[in-house]
Parts: sequence; structure tokens; C-alpha cells
Amino acid sequence: MQHHLRFRQVHLDFHTSGLIPGIGLSFDKEKWQKTLLDAHVNSVTLFAKCHHGWHYNTTNVGHMHPNLGFDLLRAQFDACKEVDINAPIYISAGFDMVKAVEHPEWCCVHLDEETGETSVHSPLKAGYIRMCFNSPYTEYLVEEIREVMRQFPNCNGIFLDIVSQPICLCESCLKVMRYNGLDPRKPEDRAICAQMGLERYLSLTTQAVMDIDPEMPIFHNAGHVAPGQQALLKKYDSHLELESLPTGGWGYDHFPISAKYAATTGLDYLGMTGKFHTTWGEFGGYKDPAALRYECDAMLAYGAKCSIGDQLHPCGNLDPATYRAIGQAYADVEAKEPWCDNVRNVADIAILPAGAITSSCTRNPSDLRGLNGAARTLLEGHFLFDVIDLDANFNDYKLLILPDNVPVDAALKRRLDAYLVKGGHLLLSGSSGVGADGKFQFDLGANLEGDSPYEPDYMVPTRELMAPGFDSPMVMYLRSKRVTLVKGSGANSLGSIYEPYFNRSDRAHFSSHQHTPNQPDATKYVTGVQKDNITYLAHPVFTIYAIWGNVPFAKYLRKVVRFAMGGEPTAVTNLPSAGRMTVMEQPSENRTIVHLLYANVVQRGEPCAVVNGQTIRGNAQVIEELVPLAGTDVTVLSERPVTGVTLEPQGLPLNYRMENGRVSFHVDTFTCHQMVVLQY
Ligand SMILES: [Zn+2]
Repeated sequence: MQHHLRFRQVHLDFHTSGLIPGIGLSFDKEKWQKTLLDAHVNSVTLFAKCHHGWHYNTTNVGHMHPNLGFDLLRAQFDACKEVDINAPIYISAGFDMVKAVEHPEWCCVHLDEETGETSVHSPLKAGYIRMCFNSPYTEYLVEEIREVMRQFPNCNGIFLDIVSQPICLCESCLKVMRYNGLDPRKPEDRAICAQMGLERYLSLTTQAVMDIDPEMPIFHNAGHVAPGQQALLKKYDSHLELESLPTGGWGYDHFPISAKYAATTGLDYLGMTGKFHTTWGEFGGYKDPAALRYECDAMLAYGAKCSIGDQLHPCGNLDPATYRAIGQAYADVEAKEPWCDNVRNVADIAILPAGAITSSCTRNPSDLRGLNGAARTLLEGHFLFDVIDLDANFNDYKLLILPDNVPVDAALKRRLDAYLVKGGHLLLSGSSGVGADGKFQFDLGANLEGDSPYEPDYMVPTRELMAPGFDSPMVMYLRSKRVTLVKGSGANSLGSIYEPYFNRSDRAHFSSHQHTPNQPDATKYVTGVQKDNITYLAHPVFTIYAIWGNVPFAKYLRKVVRFAMGGEPTAVTNLPSAGRMTVMEQPSENRTIVHLLYANVVQRGEPCAVVNGQTIRGNAQVIEELVPLAGTDVTVLSERPVTGVTLEPQGLPLNYRMENGRVSFHVDTFTCHQMVVLQY
């Protein structure tokens, strides 16, 4: 069950309160078709059931919206199909307000881990109620899915939303725990029960779809596709939709990192942004069309198809301003599609993050920070990389990065040893590669003497790794491991640790506004060590970068990555750090596509403001204008001789040099996105 996606989708949200009158009354077939076609849209996800629990199709299982007088889904669906627009169908899974009120016993009972108190959703607060997948609600949902499948056998997929199972202590979960010998008082047993609920949901709903049509595409959306879930993804999803609204809290770096993992699953995937200034449900909220264009071009550059989120007004009329903006982005996408289908991401480096190992479904911020810091280092340094989990073949990469806190068990250790023997390189940091006994698991020619008592401390890297011009002690915000070299071991120091006079702690122990300065002399401890093909850094460097974002530190990290990789990168460029480069192979066309991307993303609005007693999640990263970027040089390693290099989709030939297995070219100027195609 693998699904090949179209390039230009709209995810048309329609969560509509039962209090709103006149649902769908302005729907007009011709206007609907013209709006979508003019906007170059060729797939629209339409609603059967929303988070409120109301249906927009005729239903004997659920409840049609009380103020809807006809089968709106049927009208929208037929209008789309008549003009060859695909129509996958949306069904809300985890939220259903109608059933929550009818069957309060099907709702999640949430636990406050600190106090042990349980809670259900307060009627005094606006917001959706979470249904429990261990309860009979799942069987009800299955009947809804079956009904939709029978009514719309030619739909282009089933999209199920809010697919996760919180820790829950409802009667159904307690029964599941009792039956399986789990103890509700133990956090690990509660987590097992939640995972059982999720898998029960996945298996029952997917089976319901497959029983009726084994070819029907299906996607279970959890808002994030985390590394480590590959077995579940391949079992239950026909493709991936990477929900990532850059201005809605995800930021501009979330999508590339998700796409770098999605690319390794073998499933087709799309990026899902939104037309909103903030996030879903923002009626009257718009981002600049320039931002939408950049976001869609980024999807192409990272090997994804495109989806733009919108929310339909209850009257059923598509918003003209929204579709003018979408049309600009999708006209651009349509012209570029021939170079973006059936492509494969070229990668020298793989990040194996903690989350891929410690949990099948993690949102633990400390797991994600190591990944985010490492990925941002690679994105800004224009390295070609994948994000992987244990299903990957390590030998496909020149360098593996295990950022900050990746536990290495015996099986992983064996695989890493075999990879190193074959000439692979390893970059470890923080507690990655440190065993439970507090010793290094790899021969690093160094001793580990526990954690430093100081936080922060300071470092001066070796000249080779130093950010140009920064040869003084640089503050390292998080605690290091104390590492000393073993003489004659063949290991090399990567720099020196400097310690502060004391930790800032109380009125008797502080100096100046922040941390205490460094003592003048270096300690015997090293910032890191390199032996043979392994590089180890004593601080959780990627977490530090993810949180603080220090620029000279970023320049140091890029040098470390280049150093740790050993051999030559497949592609290098002089793009600025805000630029992005990816290299995609398109085997069916015998060509390689170099994607160059650039936008000036700026922060506007307060990241976190309290207005009328409510916390506003601002995080307003915006793009207003797309500024041309001049003078981009790229060199790509190529074993095969190139027969031509062109700028696409313009079709303009580009001068290039081919020598010593390298193709070099210069792009005078580009705006937002440029594809450079190497034909073999
Ligand atoms: Zn439950």
C-alpha cells in the first residue's frame, strides 16, 4: 500500500461549531471549481467529520451538522472530481465533541504526574476533548470510516487526525491494565497502556479501510513524524504528510528536519504548511505570498510534494485572497514538477538521534534538542544529510552523528564497530558513546573522569577547529564530561577546557550579571578527542547550539563536522548560512538536481506575550520580501561525466567546469529558489 502523491494539495480544515447557522449555503459548484483551478490546486482534503464531531456527509452512524441541510461533502467531492482534482477525505479521530458529550466515559482521564490528581476537560474552558482509543470510541470511529468508504469509494485517501494516545486513567484504560497485568501506579506501565491504545486504534482503523479497498491511501496524522517509528509508519501509512506550519510554532527548521527523516522511509511524502499568519483556525489570518512561495519551494528542494492548509468559512465559500496567494505559489510549483518527482536525497552524513532509540514515539525536548542542534548545524553549513533510525544502512554514509545523549546498547555497538571497520566515521558528543559504567564504549585513547562540577565552563579549540578570530575561552553553557588523553594512545586533543573560579550559586558566590569568569590557565581536561575515525566532544554541543544559537559557536561546529567526516563532501557551496542546498538524484531522467534556496526569515512579534490573561504563542518568524542573492558557487563530486548543466525551469544552459571528478558552476543571481540540473 504505497501511494504516489500529487504536487499541489490544499488541506481544507472545516471544524465548525453547531452554534453557527447556514452551513454551506454559499457553496457554488462553478465558483468552487474555478477558484481551485485558477490557484493550480490538484488535490483537496475534504471533511467528513470535524473535531466538533459533526459530519458534513449524509450519515447513519454519526450526526450531521445541525445547521447543514444537504450533503456538503458530496457536493464538494463531485465538484472536485468533475475537474480532475483529487479528493482525499478527512475524519477527526482523537477529537470528537459530540461523542465526548454523549459518552463522557469514552474521554481521556488525564493525570498530573506531579500531584497524582486526575482531570477531565472543564466545561468552563473552550477547546476540544480528547477521546481514548482504549475505549469503545474506537469501534464507533471504525463504523464512521466504513460508512465514508462505502459512500466515497473513489476518494483519493483517508486522512485521520489527532492520532496519539495520551497517558490515560479512564475506566477502559484501567481495565486494559488490569487484564494485562500492568500497574496503573507505575509510569512505565501507564505508558505501555497508552502505546497499546494507539496500536489498537491504528490496527482497527487501518483494517477497516483495507477491508473495503486495499489500495486506498491512508495517513494517520500526529502532527510530527518522529524518527524511530519506521515499522509503524510502513505498516499503517501509505504516505506521509509532514505537518509543519513555520509561523505556527514549528519554525522554518522543523520541516527540513522532518523531510530528512521522511526521505529515508521509502514512502512518498508531502510538506504541509498553512496560509495562516499563525496556525490552524486563524480566520482572517494571512501570511505574505512570498512566504508561501518559499515554503513550497523548500518542499520541492527537500523532495516533498506540497500541501497548504486553509480553513473553509462555514458558508462554504473559498476565500479569494487565500487562493490568489496559493495560486502564485502553485503556478511556480507546477512549472518545477518535472524535476522533483521520484527523486532521492543525496547524503554524506546521517544523524541518529536519541529519540530514534529511546522511544517509539517521543516528544521529549531533550531528545529533540540534540537532533535539532545537529540538523541546524548541517543545514547552515550546507552539508548533505539524512536523519535516520535503526532501520537505516549505516554504510550509506561517510559520517554518523550521535548527538549528545544517544544510548548505545550492545546491538548498536556491534553495528557501529562494523561500520567503523568499513571506513565509516563517527561523531559523538556529551553522553553519546558513554556506557552505564561511566566509561567510553569506544577506544578513544582517553579517560573519562566523570562530569565537570562546573556549569558553565569554557573552551579554546585547537587552531584547526577555531571559529576564525575567536581564540579566547568561549563559554559553554552546559556541563561537560572531564576527559584526559592517555599518553601514547595515538589520540589527539581537540582543545582545552577552562574552568570558572566558582559556580554562581548564592549571595556569597556570584560575580557580575551572569556566570563567573574563567581562570586564566587551561585545565588538563580536553574539549574533545579524535582517534582514528572517531571524534568525541565533551559537551552536549548540539543541545547548546539548539538552545542558544551562538554564531561563532556555529562556525566552530561546522568545522568539527568537516573534520570528523574525513573525506571530501559530495557538494560544497559559498551560500550564506541562511541559504539552503540540497542535491537530489532523479534516476529515471538520468540527472542530478542541485536546489539552491534563500529567504531572509526575520522575527516579528513577541515570542511569548500575555494578553488579557492568555499566553499568546507568537513565534512570528516571517518572510516579507524575497531578496535576490548574487554570486553562488557550487562544486559537486561526479563520477560520471556531465553532458550539460541547465538552470530549470528556465531551460537556460549554464557554463560549468568538469575536472578531477568535480563539476563546478556559478549562478550569477537567483531569487528564492533555483534548480541547477546536471544531465548525464
Ligand atoms: Zn483511557
